[in-house]
Amino acid sequence: MKTRALPVRRWLENGFGAALELLMPPRCVGCSEELPERHDGLMLCGGCRGDLRLIDWPVCGRCAAPVPATDDVELACSHCRNDKLRFNRTLALGSYEGRLRHLVMRMKTDRSELVARTLAELAWRELGPKLRQLKVDVITAVPMHAWRRWRRGTNPPRVIAERLAEKLAVPSAGGMLRLKQNLPPQVGLSRPARFRNVAGEMAVRPTYYLQAAHVLVVDDILTTGATCSEAARVLRRAGAEEVSVFALARTPAGD
Ligand SMILES: [Zn+2]
Ligand SMILES: [Zn+2]
Repeated sequence: MKTRALPVRRWLENGFGAALELLMPPRCVGCSEELPERHDGLMLCGGCRGDLRLIDWPVCGRCAAPVPATDDVELACSHCRNDKLRFNRTLALGSYEGRLRHLVMRMKTDRSELVARTLAELAWRELGPKLRQLKVDVITAVPMHAWRRWRRGTNPPRVIAERLAEKLAVPSAGGMLRLKQNLPPQVGLSRPARFRNVAGEMAVRPTYYLQAAHVLVVDDILTTGATCSEAARVLRRAGAEEVSVFALARTPAGD
C-alpha cells in the first residue's frame, strides 16, 4: 500500500501542484506577494530581488570565497589553499545569507521545484555569459540519496542542472553521480570531517562515457567544497578532463 501511495502523492505534488500554480495569480517565491500581471517571468518581487546578495565582488576562482582584489588572477585563497579541491573553478550566484539563504532553505522544504526553477532562471540571467564561456560538455548535479529526495519531494540541484543544460543546449545527466550509501548530512561537521565524510563515498554510474569531457557539477550551497571535490575526483577518474562547479550560494566566511 505504501509503495502505491508514493506515485500518487508525487503526482499531486508535482503535476497537480504545477497546474494549480498556473491558475493562481503569480506570486513571489520569496515572500508570496502577488506579482504584477506583466512581470518579467522571474517569480521574485522587486523587494526580494533587492535583498539578494548576488556576488559582485572579487572571489577566488577555485572556491568562490571572497578575496581581496587580485586583478582577476585565479589564486588559491586562504580558504581553499590547504584543501586539495579537485574541481577547476566555481561560479556562485550569491552569498548564502539574507534572502538567498531563505530561498535555498525554502527550496528544500516546500514549493521546491518552483523555487529551484526561479533560481535557475535568475542564475542564467546573471551568469549566462560566464556559463557559456565555460563550454561544458555535460551538466550533472551532486547526488542525493533516495530518501532525501523523497522527503524533499525533488532534488533541487538536479532541477537546476536540467534548466541550465536546456539554456546551454548541452545534455543534462542528473543521475551520473551516485552515493554508495546514505551519508550523514555535512551540516554541523568540521572542515576536515566534511572531507572525510564524503571521501570514497561517490561513484560515476558506468553507463557514462566521459573521455576528455568538461563536466559542470551543480550544487545548492558551497561551503568547504568537500562534496563537489569528491564529485570531481570520481569524474576525473572516469575520464573527465575538466570539472567546473556551479553553486547557487557560497557561504560567506568560507568555513
Ligand atoms: Zn518577494
Ligand atoms: Zn578559494
